[in-house]
Amino acid sequence: MVGAFRIGRIFGIEISVHWSWAIIFVLVTWTFASGILGELFPEWTSSQRWLVGALISLVFFTSILFHELSHSLVARRYGIPVSSITLFVFGGVSNLTKEPERPGQEFWIAIVGPLTSFLFAGLFGIGYVMLRSVEEGVAGVALNLAAINTAIGVFNLVPGFPLDGGRVLRSIFWARKHSILEATRTASRVGEFVAYLMMGAGGVLFFFVDPISGIWFFLIGNFLRSASAASYEQLFVETVLKGVPASAVARQDYTPISPDMTLIELLEEHVLAGHGRCFPIMAGEELLGLVTLSDMRKAPRGDWPTTTVYRVMTPAASIKSVGLRDQLPQVLVLMAENDINQVPLMEGRWLRGMIHRGDVIRYIQVRQELGTGAPAR
Ligand SMILES: [Zn+2]
Repeated sequence: MVGAFRIGRIFGIEISVHWSWAIIFVLVTWTFASGILGELFPEWTSSQRWLVGALISLVFFTSILFHELSHSLVARRYGIPVSSITLFVFGGVSNLTKEPERPGQEFWIAIVGPLTSFLFAGLFGIGYVMLRSVEEGVAGVALNLAAINTAIGVFNLVPGFPLDGGRVLRSIFWARKHSILEATRTASRVGEFVAYLMMGAGGVLFFFVDPISGIWFFLIGNFLRSASAASYEQLFVETVLKGVPASAVARQDYTPISPDMTLIELLEEHVLAGHGRCFPIMAGEELLGLVTLSDMRKAPRGDWPTTTVYRVMTPAASIKSVGLRDQLPQVLVLMAENDINQVPLMEGRWLRGMIHRGDVIRYIQVRQELGTGAPAR
């Protein structure tokens, strides 16, 4: 994640903190130093209150870290390694290296986080009860930490994917419908609905109750909305497109061009005739290179009657291509990273088809509209 700093490693999992976490740190410290601690310990100096406020922030930070670690440790028990945990303004993100294989695994990986937060809330609550009559101030701090942990647990149980509650919901849909993709789509729709509710509530709070809480609700709702849409897209690419060979979208109706054709012949016989904008230069079945309109512009117009396509083509060796074993996600990555609109499908040096960006996009749209989980063969 951009803007995150590595702070250490626990159980072999890399722990990072996003800069936005500093906002929460200051907010929690300030809340305690300026308000709560002043009431609990009226005799304290301001620096004592700020110091203890910062210490309480660290305890708060640790409870969120334990919440995230609990997800990671359960995931690891199911054989899903976790590479890193990033803590940021709205909580934490555990980077699972792959999606759970069964709904039961997903359920336990998700639910253990809020359970851990409630466990911490319970422990601080016990601390409060035990200290109440002995040391009122410390007991008061424990009570506040119990409340904070309860809030973390409850917030994460909001049934909006990708929050923990949304994952629990997805695991239930998944168990019933037997399709993780369909379950994710339903869960992310619920997530979007919840997100709009939160944004709407934020608007109402902003105008009628408390502007600051209103802004928070709106921001969290907006975050949830974009996160739930993104996680569906990502899973769609991973599950549906992963099984689809690149050849499924490759066209066979390309126009092979002989290397000794001149540019003027290419222009008149093929470009102006509407046979496309990118032509494979071939010797038999072997691909020698590609000629696009921008390749043609390399030669001055006056030279077009005498210049062969072979002279201006981009040679096969410097063309990005995919093989028969490649799948759609690789094609998408290749097109995106190199900003290209067509990729030849190769078997060694032989051309087996041409893949166009437009065809890939159409394919994805149709699959999304059908919404089925089984890859097309
Ligand atoms: Zn969680």
